[in-house]
Amino acid sequence: MTDQQPGFSTLAIHAGAQPDATTGARTTPIYQTTSYVFESADHAASLFGLQAFGNIYTRIMNPTQGVLEERLAALEGGTAALAVASGHAAQLLVFHTIMEPGDNFVAAKKLYGGSVNQFGHSFKSFGWEVRWGDVERPETMADLIDERTKAIFIESFANPAGAVSDIAAIAEVAQKAGIPLIVDNTMATPYLCRPLEHGADIVLHSLTKFLGGHGNSMGGVIVDGGTFDWSASDRYPMLKEPRPEYGGVKLHETFGNFAFAIACRVLGLRDLGPAISPFNAFQILTGIETLPLRMQRHCENALAVAKHLKGHDKVEWVNYSGLDDSPNHALQQKYAPDGAGAVFTFGLKGGYEAGVKFVEGLELFSHLANIGDTRSLVIHPASTTHRQLSDEQRGAAGAGNEVVRLSVGIEAVGDLLADLDQALAKA
Ligand SMILES: *Cc1c(COP(=O)(O)O)cnc(C)c1O
Repeated sequence: MTDQQPGFSTLAIHAGAQPDATTGARTTPIYQTTSYVFESADHAASLFGLQAFGNIYTRIMNPTQGVLEERLAALEGGTAALAVASGHAAQLLVFHTIMEPGDNFVAAKKLYGGSVNQFGHSFKSFGWEVRWGDVERPETMADLIDERTKAIFIESFANPAGAVSDIAAIAEVAQKAGIPLIVDNTMATPYLCRPLEHGADIVLHSLTKFLGGHGNSMGGVIVDGGTFDWSASDRYPMLKEPRPEYGGVKLHETFGNFAFAIACRVLGLRDLGPAISPFNAFQILTGIETLPLRMQRHCENALAVAKHLKGHDKVEWVNYSGLDDSPNHALQQKYAPDGAGAVFTFGLKGGYEAGVKFVEGLELFSHLANIGDTRSLVIHPASTTHRQLSDEQRGAAGAGNEVVRLSVGIEAVGDLLADLDQALAKA
C-alpha cells in the first residue's frame, strides 16, 4: 500500500478485515463458536485479568464482531467500538457505564420513539432520570445540568422528521459542564455525518437501519471518540476507580483513550449480556461494504420524492432538510453536505382519514415500523406508533394526524413517484 490515507469507501470495504490467516478466506468468516481454547494456564489467567487481549467467550467478544467493531471505529473516526445485539442494547450499555441510581442525563425531546420509552420509563426503574431538553435551543440544555448530570444525548438527524442537530453548539454546552456528548447517528450514518469531528465524545448506532441496510439483521454499536477525560472529576467512578473483579485495575488509567469502549465490554456487555450474534455481525459487515453507494442513491431518491410531494396539490407541507427552503437546510449543509438522508415527514391535506387511505393505497412502499431498508417504507404515526396519544400530544411529538413518515429506498425513482401519485389520488 502507498501511504495515502484510505477514503471512506475503501474503509467501508477493508477496515478491520484481512484474509483469514488459516484458510485464506477473503470474506470475513462467521466465527460461529461460543468459546476459544486457551494457549496455556498463564494465557488464560492473563486474559481474565485484562493483562492480555484475546477471545474468551462470545458473550464478551467474537472475531466476526471484532471486524465489525474495527470497521465502525474507522468509519466514525473513533478509537475503538463495541458491537452489541441492538441499538437499544447500545444505549443501555452506554448509560450503564456512566450512571448510578439517583443520577440524571439530558436528552433531546425529539428522539426515536423507542428511545423516548427506554429513557422515560425503563431507565426510571434503575433510578436513572432523563431530563428532556430542547435541541433547537442548546443554551437551554445547560440549565438542566447539575452535579449529578452524567451526559447529554442527542440524535444527529432527529426522529421522526430528520431535523439536523447543531452538534458543535451542543458539544460546547457538554464540554463546559465537564460531561460527554453522546450522539445517536443512526439516521445519518457516518457516510453523511461524523459527529466526533464536531465535538461529540461517543457515537452510537442502531446497525439495524442503514448500516446493515437490508432490513434483515438487528445490531447496535458504541463508538468511543477517545476524547473525554473520565478522570477529570469524580463523576465516573466505573472508569476512574479500581475494579475489584479485575484485581483493582483502573480502566481509564490503564486503557486511556479507548477506556470507555473497554468498560462497556468488560463490565456492561459481560454482566448485562446483549451480545450480537456472529451471523448478524457478518450480515451487517456485508451491508456496510455498499453503504456509500446506497446512501448516495437513498439521498438522491429522497430529494426527488420530497420535491415531487412539495409540488403536489394533496400535500400540505414537506419537512426535508435537503430542500433549499427548509428551516433546517443551513444545518444540513454544515453537518451533512453530501445529503440529507432518506427519512422525512410530510403532511397530507385530508388529515387522519387521508393518512390511513394513503398508506393503504401504496403498493411499492411497505407499510411498517422501520427505516433504512433498501426498500421504500412508510408509516402513518397517528394510527400506529403514536396511536395511544391525544391529538395535542401527537402534535407536540411531530406526529399530528396529517403526518406521514417515509424512509425512501433505492428502487428506480420513477416507480416510487408513480406509486405515491396513485396512492395520493386515493387519499
Ligand atoms: C431503530 C433506532 C434505535 C433502536 O435500535 P434497535 O436496533 O431497534 O434497538 C435507536 N435510535 C434510532 C434513531 C433508531 O432509528
